[in-house]
Amino acid sequence: MWQVVGQSRAVTLFQRNLERGSIAHAYLLVGPPHVGKMTLALDLARALNCEAVEPPCGLCDACQKIASGKHADVQIIGLNSSGNSTDAKPRTEISIDQVREMQHSSSLPPFEGRYKVFIIDGAELMSNEAANCLLKTLEEPAGGVIFILLTTNDAILPATVVSRCQRLELRPLATSQVEAVLNERRGVEPQKAELLARLCHGCLGWALSAAVDDSLLQRRAERIDRLLDITNGDYEERFDYVSQLAAQFSQSRGLVQEVLDLWLDWWRDLLLVKLGCNDTITNIDQEAMLVDMGRGYNLAQIKSFINSIQAAGEQLGQNANPRLVLEVLMLSIPGRSGV
Ligand SMILES: [Zn+2]
Repeated sequence: MWQVVGQSRAVTLFQRNLERGSIAHAYLLVGPPHVGKMTLALDLARALNCEAVEPPCGLCDACQKIASGKHADVQIIGLNSSGNSTDAKPRTEISIDQVREMQHSSSLPPFEGRYKVFIIDGAELMSNEAANCLLKTLEEPAGGVIFILLTTNDAILPATVVSRCQRLELRPLATSQVEAVLNERRGVEPQKAELLARLCHGCLGWALSAAVDDSLLQRRAERIDRLLDITNGDYEERFDYVSQLAAQFSQSRGLVQEVLDLWLDWWRDLLLVKLGCNDTITNIDQEAMLVDMGRGYNLAQIKSFINSIQAAGEQLGQNANPRLVLEVLMLSIPGRSGV
């Protein structure tokens, strides 16, 4: 059974490829964080190596080994994979050494399965040298070796790499679909399931993690507190916050984008409660706070600041100076108009 939820288009394509024996040498799975890219990649790895009549069965030795990360022919390469690196510092890119090691391994025959599967998690984080090195392998595909590249943004991957892969886009699930999985399959209580389903914006992986790891909701609560402090704070507090975020950005772009996403959700919710659409807000557990805060701003102010948050996110994605972008954002926080 395929473990990924939704994504029927991609699953159908893989099933057809498997039935016809027309597996591509490289796939590129594109989609937002936590949407199910890794789950689908592991599903494909299991389907390729499964010993049952209807793969992936999930029960055979191969399926179980892959699920527990112990299959010798299925390897994951990413910022967190071990490799030969002796560098104690956390990685910020996938290095050429990691790709070379993978190339070497791909030149050897499968150890215990039918296919060697290499999953590159966060392919957009490959250094230029690493991407060029991978390209050479993709240009001369070997039989029985499949590469699956996972990325949140294929626009920043070299076009030469993208063109060598079969590209599949994974879309966020409907809120109701996430809620049903949390509630019916994982036994999450209805109120919490609804909140997590809204907060994850269709990216089930985040909701599943948050259902069992309270620190994710705790971090959200801290970020909301910070948002409220900064919105009511003076310029000195706002610029201090910019310094912290800019320092974080150099370590992890994703963390800063998460903060901007939370700000965007919050100000969109303010707009929705001003318009009386309280049923559609994301932060359903904060409705009273949103209604109260909404009284301090008029619609034009809220819309304009939403545009500023979106613009900041786009500029950060285009490698603009993070400090400058965030300072401009902090300067555009509207003052309370009392309208
Ligand atoms: Zn199996």
